[in-house]
Amino acid sequence: MHINDAVFLEDLCPKFRFRQWRKSIHKFTGKSCIYCGKPSESIDHVIPRSQGGLSKTENCVPACLSCNGDKSDENALYWYRRQKFYDPRRAMAIRAWLEGDLRLALRLLQWANPNFKVKNKNYIKDESEYKAA
Ligand SMILES: [Zn+2]
Repeated sequence: MHINDAVFLEDLCPKFRFRQWRKSIHKFTGKSCIYCGKPSESIDHVIPRSQGGLSKTENCVPACLSCNGDKSDENALYWYRRQKFYDPRRAMAIRAWLEGDLRLALRLLQWANPNFKVKNKNYIKDESEYKAA
């Protein structure tokens, strides 16, 4: 088969690509909730979809089910400020993430939690441009 005939699975199956994208979001933080640091089990929209938030990397953060459910339809930055586990460094990280500066966001998260390990070194990739449905 000629190399140009290669069909990529992602092109054939957008759902597969979406799954990969979700996985990459969790990888950024080593599968820990951006708000409280517990294991992340879901993807949360910092700006809720109901308020025009988009499903792209800048607006989607790894979150545990309890944070995601509790936050519900609120803007994450306002919600987070009222939480018991509020940490200004994490708040800055969320803001940086929202602005698309994942590098800075991960550095701030690392500062907030010394045990935090950056597992995905190639975090600034074209995936960040990928928009999900
Ligand atoms: Zn959480």
